[in-house]
Amino acid sequence: MTKRIELHCHSVFSDGTLTPAGLVARAAESGVSLLVLTDHDSVSGAAELAAAGAAAGVETRLGIEINCAGEGSADRVHVLGYGLDPASPGFAARLAEFRERRTVRARRMVEKLRALGYPLEYDAVRASAHETVGRPHVADALRRLGIVKSRKEAFERFLIKGKPGYEDSMGPSPAEAIALIRDAGGIPCLAHPQTAGKEPELEALRALGLQGVEVRYAAHSPSQVRAYGDWAAARGLLAVGGSDYHGPGTGRDARLGVEYEDADLGPVLDGISRCS
Ligand code: AMP
Ligand code: ZN
Ligand code: FE
Ligand code: FE
Repeated sequence: MTKRIELHCHSVFSDGTLTPAGLVARAAESGVSLLVLTDHDSVSGAAELAAAGAAAGVETRLGIEINCAGEGSADRVHVLGYGLDPASPGFAARLAEFRERRTVRARRMVEKLRALGYPLEYDAVRASAHETVGRPHVADALRRLGIVKSRKEAFERFLIKGKPGYEDSMGPSPAEAIALIRDAGGIPCLAHPQTAGKEPELEALRALGLQGVEVRYAAHSPSQVRAYGDWAAARGLLAVGGSDYHGPGTGRDARLGVEYEDADLGPVLDGISRCS
C-alpha cells in the first residue's frame, strides 16, 4: 500500500497562489493525507491551515522554508524546518527581519528593471504578496505587464543570477537558518539537495547541524531518490519528501504530494511528529 503526503508547499503567505484553505482543498482532492505548509520566511498561514484541515479531515502541520545567502553555493541552499514552535522566543522577530530584507532586495530588482525601460512599480510587485515577497512576485508583475508569459520566462530572462534584473539574496547564512530552526525546537532539512551542491557541500551542511534531506522531490529521478536516500540513511538523517507545490499559474503546480510505501512512511512521520 502507498500513501500520498506533502511536506513541502507554498501558499499566498509567500509565493504560492492558493490560500492555506485552498491547499487543503487540493490535498483532499489529490488524496494527500498529510499536508505540511512550508512558506518562505512565514508561519502566518498556520491558523487557517489548521482550521481548514480539521474541517476537511486532512491532517496538517506547520513547517517553514528559509532561502539562504552567502559565498559559494550558500545562495542555493534552502532549509526546510519541521516540528518547530512558532512562538519560541525571537523566532517571529527573525522571520520579520528576513522578510524586511526581502523587500529591500525586491525594490532593488524593480529599480534595475526600470533602468532597463520596463515600467514596473514596486507597489505592483508588493500587491500580490500577502506577506513574504520574492522573485516570483516580481515575475508575476512582469507577467501582468505583458513583458513575460510565465514565471519561468521571467526567471530565465531577468531574475536568475547573471540576468539583468537579478539582485543577490539577502537571506541568512545556512548556519543561521539551521540554528534558527533548531533553536525553535525544529528539525532542519535540506530542500531539493540537487540545487545545493554535491557531497562536500552536503557534508558541510550536516556539520552545521542539518538533520534531514528532501529525498523524494517532484523533480528527482528514481536514481536520485535512491542516492539521496542512501546518503541520508548512512548518516542517520531524516528522509523527507514533497513536491514544492506553488499553485495554479506558477508552473510549479503538478500534482500535490509525493507517494510513499507504508513501510517507508513510519520513520518520516515519527521524525516530524513533534510538528505543532
Ligand atoms: P527568492 O526567494 O526571492 O530568491 O525566490 C526564489 C523562489 O523562486 C524559489 O523558492 C522558487 O519558489 C521560485 N523559483 C526559482 N526559480 C524559478 C523558476 N525558474 N520558475 C519559477 N519559479 C522559480
Ligand atoms: Zn517558492
Ligand atoms: Fe526551495
Ligand atoms: Fe519551496
